[in-house]
Amino acid sequence: PSQRQQLRLCNLRSPSRLAPRTQHRRGWRESGMPLAPGKGGGLLLRWSEVPPSMTESFILSGYRCPGYTFAQCLVSAFRPTNETGNFWTHFLAVFVFAFHFLEQFWGEGPMVPAGPLDPFYYPLWSYFLGVCGLLVASSMAHLFNSMSLVIREICFYIDYGTISAYTVGSSLAYFYYIHPRGGGGSPPPPLPGTGNNVSSPSAWPSWEGAGWLSALAGQVGTWFEALYVPSACLIALFCTLACCSTRHQWPRYRYLIRTLVFLLPFGVVSIPVFRKLWWGGGGAAGGHGTGRFFLRHCFWLLASGIFNVSKIPERFSPGKFDIWGHSHQWFHCCTFMSILDELHMIRGEIRELGAGLPLLPRAPTFLSTFGVMLLLLTLLASIVGWFGLRAYASHQRSKARKGD
Ligand SMILES: [Zn+2]
Repeated sequence: PSQRQQLRLCNLRSPSRLAPRTQHRRGWRESGMPLAPGKGGGLLLRWSEVPPSMTESFILSGYRCPGYTFAQCLVSAFRPTNETGNFWTHFLAVFVFAFHFLEQFWGEGPMVPAGPLDPFYYPLWSYFLGVCGLLVASSMAHLFNSMSLVIREICFYIDYGTISAYTVGSSLAYFYYIHPRGGGGSPPPPLPGTGNNVSSPSAWPSWEGAGWLSALAGQVGTWFEALYVPSACLIALFCTLACCSTRHQWPRYRYLIRTLVFLLPFGVVSIPVFRKLWWGGGGAAGGHGTGRFFLRHCFWLLASGIFNVSKIPERFSPGKFDIWGHSHQWFHCCTFMSILDELHMIRGEIRELGAGLPLLPRAPTFLSTFGVMLLLLTLLASIVGWFGLRAYASHQRSKARKGD
């Protein structure tokens, strides 16, 4: 659309809904002029010139107008808008994460004698899918959310869905690689005829097939083994539903609710780490740094939560951090650091598994790893689709009301 059309699109804001979130904003309200004509064909607007659902607390300028084309969104990645930093902090993170992930297969240290495509690595690849899905969806949501108000809503629904999928990817990696030895869990008995040989992980015995699926089917395993992954999936679905709802309800507490909602999967998904650190004995917390990496993982998660809820630093100086340095960018950086430490923790556990101890007490299968991720993604897509349809219908209704 032309600049004139874009401005008209942006004047959707009804005065009754203005309700500025800070005193600082009152002065901006009547300006009526775009902040700066965009060089790439798009306009950058002040908070008072975009629909209320697009504004962020304490961010006064640098908004893109809904109605950008696909190409304008792409170009906007290279222009200073208030989404540029949000996009790059998660887009570049994909490559950094992929580098550290693939290092697993060419890095030094005691390696599990298995190729990257061996079933041993199915949980790790599921985790990789979860993390990359999260980072890619988040960066794309930030880049393309100015195409229309409905697309903006859908972008953020997808974002929440992929965060949930990531927590399930983590739970799979934790379930298969992180388990206490010593007091909390005894190594599996040697397999008759094979001597529990670790040199051929592909030939994992079927008696070890006590994955969560067979435990759930009542064959073998503890209640924890039966319920851990299914619980992670149910919580992921609940969190996506709750976060999508905060885009329509409880606007005042939306950041707090989203942060709390994602503490829940953290608490449940981390149970194997807690068990390991509690029961794992001397080597568990020290040898490969599980305890250290987990603490750092928690620290970065806490920091990301604080940035997300407190809106520091822009809270103290509205307008100063509109383009660079606002809390959402720090939130992205902290979540990525937490993921990186989590990856190092998982890699440490895998190194420990390859150091001569019996390999996995439970054998991963395609169904119990990728199958779970596929089923979960299908369900998450249904939730996102349902909320997307609702957003579309409500947008149509408000358009019809304006037409009356
Ligand atoms: Zn984000």
